[in-house]
Amino acid sequence: MGLNFAAVWGVLLLALLGKTNSDNLRRATSSKTPHYDQIFANKPDYTANGFDFPVGKPNAKGYYNAQKFGKNTHLGDDWNGVKGGNSDLGDSVYTIANGYVTEATNLGGGWGNVIRIVHKTSGTKWHYVESLYAHCDKLNIKKGDWVKRGAQIGTIGNNGGMYYAHLHLELRHTPDLPLGGGYSKDTSGYLDPTWFIRQHRPK
Ligand SMILES: [Zn+2]
Repeated sequence: MGLNFAAVWGVLLLALLGKTNSDNLRRATSSKTPHYDQIFANKPDYTANGFDFPVGKPNAKGYYNAQKFGKNTHLGDDWNGVKGGNSDLGDSVYTIANGYVTEATNLGGGWGNVIRIVHKTSGTKWHYVESLYAHCDKLNIKKGDWVKRGAQIGTIGNNGGMYYAHLHLELRHTPDLPLGGGYSKDTSGYLDPTWFIRQHRPK
């Protein structure tokens, strides 16, 4: 009797352990971003259908890239109005593609108001990319919003006078990376935004 009980419990325990192991294995071998697979599953209209520039839409007319990705270990592009100074303060910032807003908040420090948007791509080697817009003056969207390419998401700011007004734009090929510091020799996880946008203009 005692032996039989032990045997039964042993079988149950093995079954439980086996289930846990197979679940872990399934998790480890599925997409790295199952969370976003779920979020985008019922929103086919919000898969990216091309990428535009975030200012002077769609081609950055009236703006120039004052500090390109890679210059001075910069991890993004700095978009400025051609008239210089704070002439672009309050100008519109547009989402570079359809996507899902994962952050729209003031992060303080050198960042100020930051927007992060995850884009499901089609026809690129990255399943998802994330765009990040920093130092915004105003935020026109909130976390959880869905946006279409070219929608106004905020305005260009100067982070309370810390800089001349400009838009710092980053592009990451993995969503939800740590915020980072805007500059680093280590560019793993980051893409050159201008290069990527030029490669993926709408058809
Ligand atoms: Zn910058």
